[in-house]
Amino acid sequence: MTQAMNQAPKTITEPARETPLLMETDVIVVGGGTTGPFAAISAARQGKRVVMIERFGSLGGNLTLGLNTKPSGALVGGLPLEVWNLARSAGGAGDDYMAVVKTGGVKIASPCDPELMKMLLTRLCAEAGVQILFETVVSTPVLEGDTVKGVIVESKTGRQFIAGQVVIDCSADADIATRAGAPFVMGAGGEARTMQPVSMYFTMDRVDLVRLAEWAKTTDDVPARAIPATPEGLDYGLWLTGFNQSLRSWQEKTGIQLQRDNITLKTADGRMYVNGTRVTDVDVFDPVQFTAAVLECYRQIEGVARYLREMIPGFENARIEAIAPVLGVRETRHIIGEYTLSGKDSVEGTHFDDSIAADASALDIHDPKGADVDFQGLRPYEIPYRTLLPMGVEQLLVAGRCISADHAAHARSRNMPACMATGQAAGIAAAVAIDRGVNVRQVPVDVVQQKLRELGMPLHGEEVKGTM
Ligand SMILES: Cc1cc2nc3c(=O)[nH]c(=O)nc-3n(C[C@H](O)[C@H](O)[C@H](O)COP(=O)(O)OP(=O)(O)OC[C@H]3O[C@@H](n4cnc5c(N)ncnc54)[C@H](O)[C@@H]3O)c2cc1C
Repeated sequence: MTQAMNQAPKTITEPARETPLLMETDVIVVGGGTTGPFAAISAARQGKRVVMIERFGSLGGNLTLGLNTKPSGALVGGLPLEVWNLARSAGGAGDDYMAVVKTGGVKIASPCDPELMKMLLTRLCAEAGVQILFETVVSTPVLEGDTVKGVIVESKTGRQFIAGQVVIDCSADADIATRAGAPFVMGAGGEARTMQPVSMYFTMDRVDLVRLAEWAKTTDDVPARAIPATPEGLDYGLWLTGFNQSLRSWQEKTGIQLQRDNITLKTADGRMYVNGTRVTDVDVFDPVQFTAAVLECYRQIEGVARYLREMIPGFENARIEAIAPVLGVRETRHIIGEYTLSGKDSVEGTHFDDSIAADASALDIHDPKGADVDFQGLRPYEIPYRTLLPMGVEQLLVAGRCISADHAAHARSRNMPACMATGQAAGIAAAVAIDRGVNVRQVPVDVVQQKLRELGMPLHGEEVKGTM
């Protein structure tokens, strides 16, 4: 037998098959991460039947499983603020704080306890009547012409069809929008190296927070910071970014190379959350590259934990407690929508008549080439409804980090306050479209805005005060 005969074919043709209907609903939310629950609860509270499909076994995505926990900006109203206030009243979040950064101050919503947040989001979905499907992957949309009619899901049962009137793509990667044919841009315009790098959070226990906070007050190596005035405040209120000089000298001394100039530490429920890893130039849609990035993050986690133990007061007895079970992906596809939010819009706070959220997130950009992090507090900006509407596909909305925003605007709109707000708006818009019997592209935006206002959501920049 020749070598050539043993080679696997380059492609195979799968047999056609009949796919059974699992259920029929009004609104399908793809992805139950940071954004999805806000879309699902919002639509369900408007009286719509909602199915939310999540490939993992719990809600919250990057917010909870990714161990991010902290919205980088104030939560200025609506369902996001309601959720955070519920978390606070259950002891699962602290008070918001004003962090010192190079541009002055930036108000940050307190981090949350991710385990409590998983339960809270799930309970709110159940109370609103949302049907969650865990451990189920949405593989592709079902189209009639250019109109989405539902999705194909895959679970242990196999492939099934869910029919729906509106689909909201909260998959973070615009999986469904792009498979439906919507145009998109990767990162700043193409290859992996134009995207913000990936990272993986981990937590450490046995950290002496009081000792760490006292030391942090005395060093100029932690220029961005929020240090609570009282020991009680340390549970949710300590945020430290920097460590550049000591990180550099430790690497020179040990010969261990970490791929990042700085580290961010923050507390939630008295635990220390460490954001200190980085892998650049990863095509996260290639499973081999994705896996290599996970391995590299594990190597760096060991290094960062060792650096903290050896160099930073308070960490002497600390040990790795938990590692996020998911790789933290900052940026992939941005859909091209009816409007693309530009970096200029997000910095200057352009007024949009169809704004569905005023967002006070910080600008947070990790240089795709690996330079230092640029984290700035800026005045609130506005997110137009048109950024949720992909071109060329009907009855589909996109919310979360893959909305129509360019690479520079995404440095603000990828933050969790913006993701939650776009989820909320998409859920309301889907419900309004169904109630009015119109397409989501023709939805009366003033009706959506009125409903958002009734939820206490500010829509224009000047309505938000005290965030910087
Ligand atoms: C390391 C790191 C640190 C960050 N730090 C901060 C920070 O401090 N503050 C801040 O505000 N933001 C931060 N961000 C950004 C922010 O966390 C994300 O941009 C945001 O959480 C994205 O929300 P999302 O809902 O779009 O995506 P996700 O939270 O990732 O949710 C997407 C969900 O969809 C599910 N899903 C995807 N595809 C499918 C499918 N085909 N079928 C079924 N389910 C699917 C996923 O499992 C996931 O649960 C950080 C990001 C990273 C990576």
